[in-house]
Amino acid sequence: MDARASLLSWVEVDSAALLENLLAFRQILTPHAKLLLVVKANAYGHGLPLVTRLAAASRVVDVLGVHSLEEAHAVRAAGWIGRILIMGQVARARLEELWTLDAELTLLDLETAEALDPVGRKRGRALACHLKLESGTHRQGVMASELAPLLARLREAPGVRIVGASTHFANIEDTTDHSYAEGQLHAFEEGVRQLERAGFASLERQTACTAAILTLPATHFELVRLGIGAYGHWPSRETRVSAQRAGGETFRLRPPLSWKTRIGQLKWIEEGSFVGYGCTHRAGHRTHLAVLPIGYADGYDRGLSGLAHVLVRGRRAPVIGRICMNIVLVDVTDVPGVAREDEVVLLGSQGSETLSAEHLAGWAQTIPYEILSRISPTAPRFVTREGQIAS
Ligand SMILES: *Cc1c(COP(=O)(O)O)cnc(C)c1O
Repeated sequence: MDARASLLSWVEVDSAALLENLLAFRQILTPHAKLLLVVKANAYGHGLPLVTRLAAASRVVDVLGVHSLEEAHAVRAAGWIGRILIMGQVARARLEELWTLDAELTLLDLETAEALDPVGRKRGRALACHLKLESGTHRQGVMASELAPLLARLREAPGVRIVGASTHFANIEDTTDHSYAEGQLHAFEEGVRQLERAGFASLERQTACTAAILTLPATHFELVRLGIGAYGHWPSRETRVSAQRAGGETFRLRPPLSWKTRIGQLKWIEEGSFVGYGCTHRAGHRTHLAVLPIGYADGYDRGLSGLAHVLVRGRRAPVIGRICMNIVLVDVTDVPGVAREDEVVLLGSQGSETLSAEHLAGWAQTIPYEILSRISPTAPRFVTREGQIAS
């Protein structure tokens, strides 16, 4: 029996779509650039173990990028034996685990360097670190003014090996004007020159997220950090416009993820009846109401209340009333033949209809990144090929 038949909500990931996206990016990278796939936030909601295994099978991913130590553990547990880069903070008390995981670290400050050095010395193996340089995002990087003392300290730190330098763009998704990003690029290159003058050579330079990969090839360097694009989404409309202007109109992305549930109950309510908490919806007609066993606690944003549609039997059905913690109410009056336990698509395609992460993000006034990354990690995930569960 199909394992999905007994489930009330689950996520499907089409392996062919993910692979096509990875290959599409591989093709547009400058030839020597390595591809890091970002799998933070449960691989943008797709399921970290599943995406890790697909990345390994693809043979085009060189490095997996995670935010946290916990995610690095999950990547190893899923069987990945390749390079891992941690991009976020690691608590000083747990730095030893970087050695046991054989993970590389994005070095964000002098304090971490000082804590790493004795561990590396004791273990007789320096930890591979990528120095994050501040270039204008003012989030994680080492400020230009702090660089000289940090490099002086690092020269005396045999437990730490600087193998790369990185930065992250502040204003590349939100605009078609890339002057701020270009300014950041110059600041980054100046930082790299300072590193080289201090004797840190042969650095793996990495700056590009999806939007930079697509719009500024000068940012590719030795490694790119690909996130949302691998998951089949343009970072923004502006990125799409910029890429088209630069001649990338043939570039195609296909979202691999579908998010599904089943109708829990069906009932008819009379015209004038109120629906849900706060009585925010009053039925303007005798309404066939479907109760879905999913809600904001499962990642179906409460901001979608009264705005979103779901797909039932190939038709769009409106979400009415407020979204509850674990329940959503849908008007299925116009869905002929609707039945209990019918499959309902929250995100994805059914028949000729599609609900994209962009649609949901528009309704919920957020971005596809948030819609995807908040899909409950406890929902079962399946790899599918042409709709069938892949073994
Ligand atoms: C999440 C993240 C990325 C990926 O960004 P996308 O826009 O999803 O490609 C790249 N670099 C860093 C540092 C990140 O945190």
